Amino acid sequence: MDVARLHGVGPKKLQGLHSLGIHDLHGLLTHYPRRYVDRSKEARIGELAPGEEAMVIGRVSSVSSRRVRGGRVMVTAVLRDDTGSLRCTFFNQPWRERQLGAESQDVAVFGKVEMFNGARQMTNPVVDMIGDRTGRIVAIYPLSERSRLSTWDLSDWVAQVLRRCSARGIADPVPDALLTRHDLVSRAEAFAGIHAPESMAHMVVARQRLVFDELLRLQLALVQRKVDLEHAESGIAHVVSAEEGPAPGVQRQFLDALPYALTGAQQRVIDEITADLAAPVPMHRLLQGDVGAGKTVVAVAALLVAVQGGHQGVLMAPTEVLAEQHAASVRALLEGFTVAEPGSLLGQRPLHVALLTNRTRAAERRRVLAGLADGTVDLAIGTHALIQDGVEFHSLGVAVVDEQHRFGVEQRAALRSTHADGRVPDLLVMTATPIPRTAAMTVYGDLDVSVLDELPPGRTPIRTWWAKDADDEARAWRLVRDQVAEGHRAYVVCPLIEGSDKVEVASAEETFEQLSAGELYGLRLGLLHGRVPPEDKQAVMDRFRVGELDVLVATTVIEVGVDVPEATVMVVLDADRFGIAQLHQLRGRVGRGAAASECVLVATGEPTPDGEARLEAMVASTDGFELAEIDLDLRGEGTVLGQRQKGRNDLLLASLRRDREWVERARAAAIELVGDGTGMRSHRELADEVRMLLDDDEREFLFKS
Ligand code: ADP
Ligand code: MG
Repeated sequence: MDVARLHGVGPKKLQGLHSLGIHDLHGLLTHYPRRYVDRSKEARIGELAPGEEAMVIGRVSSVSSRRVRGGRVMVTAVLRDDTGSLRCTFFNQPWRERQLGAESQDVAVFGKVEMFNGARQMTNPVVDMIGDRTGRIVAIYPLSERSRLSTWDLSDWVAQVLRRCSARGIADPVPDALLTRHDLVSRAEAFAGIHAPESMAHMVVARQRLVFDELLRLQLALVQRKVDLEHAESGIAHVVSAEEGPAPGVQRQFLDALPYALTGAQQRVIDEITADLAAPVPMHRLLQGDVGAGKTVVAVAALLVAVQGGHQGVLMAPTEVLAEQHAASVRALLEGFTVAEPGSLLGQRPLHVALLTNRTRAAERRRVLAGLADGTVDLAIGTHALIQDGVEFHSLGVAVVDEQHRFGVEQRAALRSTHADGRVPDLLVMTATPIPRTAAMTVYGDLDVSVLDELPPGRTPIRTWWAKDADDEARAWRLVRDQVAEGHRAYVVCPLIEGSDKVEVASAEETFEQLSAGELYGLRLGLLHGRVPPEDKQAVMDRFRVGELDVLVATTVIEVGVDVPEATVMVVLDADRFGIAQLHQLRGRVGRGAAASECVLVATGEPTPDGEARLEAMVASTDGFELAEIDLDLRGEGTVLGQRQKGRNDLLLASLRRDREWVERARAAAIELVGDGTGMRSHRELADEVRMLLDDDEREFLFKS
């Protein structure tokens, strides 16, 4: 039903509702209160003591405004109840004059009580206009000024809708058994409780049900999509035994030849992947593993399963530098391996690993493309160049993508189309950015997730400390000099300047000049930032790698993948400005060799409380998953979800942070409901709801492949 049909909604108010994005009753019911005024917590003005935080409700008896020093506007309002009066002053909120001067309505203010010239006062209190609404708990709605609606307009209309609902009942497609198991109230009760709670406890119970519904819908969509993919596409049932195929047992041979034993986590994840590969359903798996957890070995083990059965594998990296590094290390790992070549003299030929990026020269490129097309290239390593038009595979069996964030739906589709007979290659996406488990369930709910949660033994943990003042900073530069004197190398990360590449480059150049002439005078310094041309970048990196440079001064361009085991110190300047995930990635550049490493976080100013919390977390932990949880706590889910944020437009109340447990419950419920492959056929109403509640964008993201 259209909101235009509610009592009290004329053309003006209708416009206001539309400006808030509210068009129908469902939109109105899901326009949830922003907060609540709990009258049971109300204090009397006459009893307010200085220093105390309190909420009082009264009527405005006068409002005035004037300019004060610095051109700021100060609005003063006097609030009265029958025990006394309270002065409220607002700085830089000129609109308060209009808001509070409007009509004589009840106003709730919350703030700290001060004494000023013998009178009680609050400065910049939180203000809620509550109108003439009674009831112990008053819901306060989010409104824009443009809507010209009051919070009591909203509650009137919501009350009308709730009355209709309680007369006619409200559809509740979630199976009773689920509600009982999770101790959840009915949907009708939940809407009543969120909009017009009798107590805060009542509101909490109501919210829980609505949160569950939001999370369940999202999980249903994700799990459904996963099931659909698995059923719609036919994949390759790879040869996993050591006896069959053109390269029998090459995976086993590779693992046996490693100079170290696999970690328990590596073994577990390789088993998970191998089981996926043996199945005829195409794999869509995400591998999360902290920097240094040993993802490369896992990737190669997966790729070799393809080779074993006469198919090809590709490993795709986000940058040319990384692709080249991967190619070098994979070639070293696979030195001396052979595959069957019927008709040849020995019946064997060397296993062929090719590199393809946009830097590959024309002649070599032609050779690689020919080898991909006729199957003589067994493993191809490269950038997106590998899935551009014109690249054809003889039989692509497994694709591994390093760093998922630059690999979207389109690229997945491109990969899929590589196979002539329509069989879809198995896909493994690897990321070194750990995200909390519940966030992964939400963001990557359409993938299976494997986690490498164990570092190979023998790493010396990186000691991290916070340089708080000039003395500490001097100590950091001494550390750099000492380490270089011992034959090690160091990174210096320049201040992060959000939004302006140009300013950031300038600041990096300045840092470089200062250090060269000052603290690090006499050492061999290199500079790397986003505007250094690719060839020069490579040259600087190479010189640092071979030890012709002692110190690399860089912006966050060194964040991904750079691997120089001799680097033992990292100094991050203005570290309080970086996010936890970023600091963690940066820190992963050191501690890659046998020598003990240190990471110095320089923040000599006064960091914000969040900045301080980030630094303290970094000092306290080197565990990426633990840090990701802290990050989620500090920053909320938005940043954690990043690119794939789209997928959660429907989460109005649910928070991945506060509702972790419920994410898990909703996922389990979704798997129970649709995971068996029969789809949502037996849950038609739920299915309709899932479709209805996803907006177009999201539907595309969730349902298209
Ligand atoms: P990631 O890509 O996960 O950051 P890598 O695959 O580059 O990590 O591995 C980091 C280093 O650890 C490499 O030098 C690799 O040879 C080594 N490594 C991997 N697995 C093990 C293991 N099980 N035991 C010892 N060292 C290992
Ligand atoms: Mg790696």
